[in-house]
Amino acid sequence: MKKFLHTTVSLFLIIPFVFISCKKKTSTEEAITREVPRPVNVILLIGDGMGLAQVSTTVYFKKDGPSNFQRFEYIGLINSSSADAKITDSAASGTAFACGELTYNGAIGVDTAKQSITNIIEYVSRSGYQTGVVATSSITHATPASFYAHAASRNMNELIATQLTESEVDVFMGGGRKFFENREDGEDMIQRLKDRNFNIYYSLEELPAMDSGKKYGILAAPDGLPPVYQGRGEFLSQATEKTLNYLSGKQQPFFLMVEGSQIDWAGHENNGEYLITEMLDFDRTIGKVMDFAEKNPGTLVIVTADHETGGLALSANSGSGMGANYDEIMPTFSTGGHTSTLLPVFASGPGAEKFAGIYQNNQIYHKIVDLLSLE
Ligand code: MG
Ligand code: ZN
Repeated sequence: MKKFLHTTVSLFLIIPFVFISCKKKTSTEEAITREVPRPVNVILLIGDGMGLAQVSTTVYFKKDGPSNFQRFEYIGLINSSSADAKITDSAASGTAFACGELTYNGAIGVDTAKQSITNIIEYVSRSGYQTGVVATSSITHATPASFYAHAASRNMNELIATQLTESEVDVFMGGGRKFFENREDGEDMIQRLKDRNFNIYYSLEELPAMDSGKKYGILAAPDGLPPVYQGRGEFLSQATEKTLNYLSGKQQPFFLMVEGSQIDWAGHENNGEYLITEMLDFDRTIGKVMDFAEKNPGTLVIVTADHETGGLALSANSGSGMGANYDEIMPTFSTGGHTSTLLPVFASGPGAEKFAGIYQNNQIYHKIVDLLSLE
């Protein structure tokens, strides 16, 4: 019901805005600008390596209903160039989302001078937010690490694991068990997590009903989880659902980051089957998040990507010398690395209209922080 109310309200706000937008800012307009509805909870979903062609596979290859990307109200585009390269890596782009600053490729939560910069989990935690991180890579991998760690290099997995034990994160689910135990430095970070009130499990199946008074960590693989096409099942959507139930049961606002980590790995491998199955898995997860947001007004959902991987095109199947078949799409890759194509941003919920337009990736952080306007 509230959702319809928001839609109606924003329609009335937009119509007068359109008519007066060519004039100088009027006081009415400024009043309208101030009345943008504010979100309580924020869920940021990152498809690692997910360009528009990757998103498009959910339109062409999904068999059970329309793409969940079609459920969003506002669409924008971002440039993801880092401080030192036109083509970014996941660390610099993750840091731009998590901390709002452009930095060098490989940097985790540090600026170009290698100084730590505050990330959004640290920022919102000061105001009593609960926070979570979910991924299908190691939880210490570049994208999730950017949201809680500070390291000069993304390769410092043991340092990043140590920093997770000291972070404000209340729940995490992913892989990376080997960076917490049997470490080169001999430290036992599983024990450290338990000492800090974390209940640790090694699969989603082992996880009991979650108690809102405790913290939870799942380390479901030694490093990354297996790809969907090699048996991962529905880990990502189920972990996301369980995390949302836990966070929303706390009667406190929350910030959650969910990563479809392996869209990127499929792109690096130029593997069409791997890519499509990872995209359909990410789409299913987006569906669960949108279902949650519809039942919990006040939830802002943003879906975007850190960069594109593979230079993917959805070409016609050119067959064996018979010419192109325009009725059959074949994923075609142009590189084994990342590309600099602009990336789509999908937003829904209070303040979603702020994410329309074309802008730099670090503005995602600033738009979220401005909307929350915490002390
Ligand atoms: Mg990643
Ligand atoms: Zn990559």
